[in-house]
Amino acid sequence: MTFESLGLSPALLRALADQNYTVPTPIQAEAIPLAMAGHDLLGGAQTGTGKTAAFGLPLLQRMSKQTPSNGFRRPRALILVPTRELAVQVTESLRGYSRHVRLNIAAIFGGAGMGPQVELFRRGVDVLVATPGRLIDHMERGTVKLDAIEVLVLDEADRMLDMGFLPAMKRILAKLPRERQTMLFSATFESQLKQLALEFMHHPKQVQV
Ligand code: AMP
Repeated sequence: MTFESLGLSPALLRALADQNYTVPTPIQAEAIPLAMAGHDLLGGAQTGTGKTAAFGLPLLQRMSKQTPSNGFRRPRALILVPTRELAVQVTESLRGYSRHVRLNIAAIFGGAGMGPQVELFRRGVDVLVATPGRLIDHMERGTVKLDAIEVLVLDEADRMLDMGFLPAMKRILAKLPRERQTMLFSATFESQLKQLALEFMHHPKQVQV
């Protein structure tokens, strides 16, 4: 199995080669074709399995196919994560994978000033990585609009629930376009999480490693 055989674009393949990724991990081999076909995904995966590229590569490929060349760029992909550390890590990974495509990837999280984050939105964001609480702050202030979101990722969804983010996640989900692709990754699937997936996903395909 190679990344080439998964149908990724030359620009993404080049970035993977730059980083010496040669073979897709099991979750990547399973998830990437399903995600590229537009399916919703329920992924059972721990950190360290390569799940960031599993959702990130299809998402970046979709985003890079239709980059608006000018004007104000609203986020078209949203990745919700439980912590600022994960926000930083996911953002760095996505920037690495997208180094040969022109996309603005921004991270927003609590404990940092609002000003620089507002400035990011003013300059235009294609892919937004956010913790739920800080995203709600921006939504309330009207500094971010989520009406152009095409792809939603809930990363480490079980940790977001453990941290009490369910109400925030529901408020965010309610503001997103109904027609979108949703990918949810979690190490565990408690009943509350299954319920959330049933409510907010559309015939998801399951991938497990
Ligand atoms: P993640 O589970 O997404 O946090 O990835 C865990 C680590 O594996 C990160 O350091 C990635 O850069 C690395 N990684 C992910 N996929 C691959 C791959 N196919 N080949 C080599 N390294 C990888």
